[in-house]
Amino acid sequence: MTPQVISVLGSTGSIGTSTLAVLDRHPEAFSVHALAAHSRADDLFEQCLKYQPDVAVLICEDAAAKLRAALKAADCATVVKCGEQAVVEVAEAESVTTVVAAIVGAAGLRSTLAAVAAGKRLLLANKESLVMSGDLLMSQAKASGSLVMPVDSEHNAIFQCLPQTETGIDLAGVEKILLTASGGPFRNWTKEALSVVTPQQALKHPNWSMGPKITVDSSTLMNKGLELIEACHLFSVSADDVQVLVHPQSVVHSMVAYTDGSVIAQLGRPDMRTPIAHALSWPQRIESGVQALDFLTLSNLTFEAPDLDCFPCLRLAFEAQRAGGTAPAVLNAANEVCVEAFLDGRVAFLQLPETIEYTLSHAKITPAADLPTIIEADNTAREIAREKLGRLAS
Ligand code: NAD
Ligand code: MG
Repeated sequence: MTPQVISVLGSTGSIGTSTLAVLDRHPEAFSVHALAAHSRADDLFEQCLKYQPDVAVLICEDAAAKLRAALKAADCATVVKCGEQAVVEVAEAESVTTVVAAIVGAAGLRSTLAAVAAGKRLLLANKESLVMSGDLLMSQAKASGSLVMPVDSEHNAIFQCLPQTETGIDLAGVEKILLTASGGPFRNWTKEALSVVTPQQALKHPNWSMGPKITVDSSTLMNKGLELIEACHLFSVSADDVQVLVHPQSVVHSMVAYTDGSVIAQLGRPDMRTPIAHALSWPQRIESGVQALDFLTLSNLTFEAPDLDCFPCLRLAFEAQRAGGTAPAVLNAANEVCVEAFLDGRVAFLQLPETIEYTLSHAKITPAADLPTIIEADNTAREIAREKLGRLAS
């Protein structure tokens, strides 16, 4: 494998640290150009000492100053930069071959697009950027020759189950994409029980250990909704070509059904190091540190339909994807505002879909032709969602 020079955006998070754990096993194959994060100076300091990147970026100015002083005292040559533009710069830097997009939320949009426009190999975990700008991102990738490798476990699984070509995947003979979902911590709960769930309960995912935003998204099934939209863009299919299956064991990470009746599935432990290692090394394979599945200790693998009545976020995502244009960006923005409010204890669990539906029906949906249009749709949707949340709270 040709050595890769990597920028890890969101290096202190769940995906960021799992990525670095895979890199640790292959020091000869990868070097780190940059590490970027929001504000955890102490964590980024430790990472800089270990990986000696050329550049470290923090968004928070105070945290960047603290990191700069600490690295100087430790005689570490890493240059510390601050702000979103610096994240964009390390995503498009000439020496970089590979960008790991693992910032959470819309905050990752500009750097993800910059990596794509610069023709990098993109390891895409930041699904929100694809949800917001799917057509733009995929067309820019085509124009620049950027290889977009899905890190999201389901999409990485689907990629593995599709016919492969030298430059990616092919859709020959594909009948349907079967996108699996764990169902989250509230599977089979009644609406009455859901009306009083706490952030602490939502933050306890049954199978995966992840950052707080995606964990809440998993509990509302919005995560699966965002993933539906993600799948449509990554694999050039429509919402009707994707079926969501609740599979509580999280062993089958997704499947592809073919016209001849065959179904191909990818299985593994619920550990993100597997899709990260695959996305780093494809078309080759490298060791990830994840143990193989032990089929003799696996119990039943079960599948059921999602409950769209108790979890309307998934329905809203299907509707937004079918509406097209800026609707997915509006869905995403309203959801980000809602998740933050829910984690702060400002809104009840069942008011999340209510607020997102309200926002979708009150925002003007236009074609998502360019970045300014998408960002404007995102800003307006946040205003509408905040106004609605304010009224719900009073
Ligand atoms: P996390 O909260 O653990 O980490 C987020 C990272 O982004 C942190 O390093 C944080 O410092 C950084 N960050 C936040 N705001 C930033 C900003 N404005 N600028 C720069 N950096 C910023 O989140 P996570 O669970 O690692 O998820 C990251 C992304 O990967 C999300 O889009 C999520 O949907 C996706 N994803 C995560 C998992 C998982 O298992 N954790 C699986 C699939 C997809
Ligand atoms: Mg996923």
